Amino acid sequence: TSFNDFGLAEPILRALAEEKYVTPTPIQAQTIPLALEGRDVIGIAQTGTGKTASFALPILNHLVNNRVRPAQKACRVLVLSPTRELSGQIADSFRAYGRHIRPLAVELAIGGVPINRQIRAVARGVEVLVATPGRLLDLVNSRALTLDKIEVLVLDEADRMLDMGFIHDIKRIVAMLPKERKTLFFSATMPQQIVQLAGSMLRDPAKVSV
Ligand code: AMP
Repeated sequence: TSFNDFGLAEPILRALAEEKYVTPTPIQAQTIPLALEGRDVIGIAQTGTGKTASFALPILNHLVNNRVRPAQKACRVLVLSPTRELSGQIADSFRAYGRHIRPLAVELAIGGVPINRQIRAVARGVEVLVATPGRLLDLVNSRALTLDKIEVLVLDEADRMLDMGFIHDIKRIVAMLPKERKTLFFSATMPQQIVQLAGSMLRDPAKVSV
């Protein structure tokens, strides 16, 4: 397979060519067609397998094909990740693969930095918000952000988020999301707690594993 086989929109293919991506990695080859079909996906994959692009590319394609302006204090796509560092890398990937898509606001909601800039960043509405769970809840609780317009949810490194004690925050967040959404769920391992969490969040998911 090549990236041209997926039917991705031209601005995305152009960015991939500039990134010198030629061949999809195994997680990408499995996940991208399912996500483009609109399926929920559980992906079992480690960091370094190319899993970021496996969710970022179909999401960007959805944004290209459904051009609506995000509502104020809202995001269309929410990516939850366990750490500031990973969140930053995910946001950088969305910006790189999405560089020919305009407008495309990709913002971070992570702890350890002042919240005021993040409040301003989401005020006009953003396409993609990459967040750690605690800071996301801070934004919601301070009424800077609502979650009722989210079209796609990504949970990245779900097992690590559980290890870090984020399970209650995640459940609180998921309870605020629309039921009519797509969910893409990634974890390196699938212990019982993760199987249960995935079962509570996903609708008829396709499972992929590398
Ligand atoms: P990830 O597992 O998402 O953190 O990606 C690991 C690294 O592989 C990143 O530096 C990506 O830029 C790179 N990468 C991901 N997919 C591809 C691909 N299909 N071709 C070449 N490099 C890739």
